[in-house]
Amino acid sequence: MPFVKNNEWVVPGQPLAATEELMPGKGTFVDNGIIRASIPGVVKIDMLNYQIEVRGKDVAQELPSPKSSVIGYILSMRDELALVKVTKSPSHALKNVIVTGALHISQASSKKYLSSLYDGYAPGDIVKLKVISGPPYVLTAKGPRLGVLYSTCSVCGNPLWLEESSGKLKCLVCGHEEERVVSTDYLLKLK
Ligand SMILES: [Zn+2]
Repeated sequence: MPFVKNNEWVVPGQPLAATEELMPGKGTFVDNGIIRASIPGVVKIDMLNYQIEVRGKDVAQELPSPKSSVIGYILSMRDELALVKVTKSPSHALKNVIVTGALHISQASSKKYLSSLYDGYAPGDIVKLKVISGPPYVLTAKGPRLGVLYSTCSVCGNPLWLEESSGKLKCLVCGHEEERVVSTDYLLKLK
């Protein structure tokens, strides 16, 4: 008999059954003849195929949906396209799912047209964007709260502060000024 019942919740490492009884399926691993859960989830025993598996939380639930805002950082960029690693969607922290999205220059700003993404973004910038469609994810910065949330000085690497009167970002360490498509939620604001 398996150690667990069908539809029972299990945690990683929990013994499920002996390999003589059942075959290990998805979400399991075998350790000394014992099938154990490798992920948290629900046990599914398939008695037709003598297989046991653990189904994790539905991945689709964790994925951002169109029109939702997401937070991530710029992984890499060219003049016209940036690749954004999404680290947080509104309802869930994306723990086990790696989601990347693309920000095209035509969606880079609601205020002005940028001739290059480098005029408003830099690799490593933390950004808040909205999902247009996907997967594969197409992102937009068109919206008042969208854009860069946090950025660092390209000269010395220290945090940049937003001067709200001018809309410019300033490094308090070396004095360097930079322009970004800043979100109204930019994290560091000079009073
Ligand atoms: Zn600096």
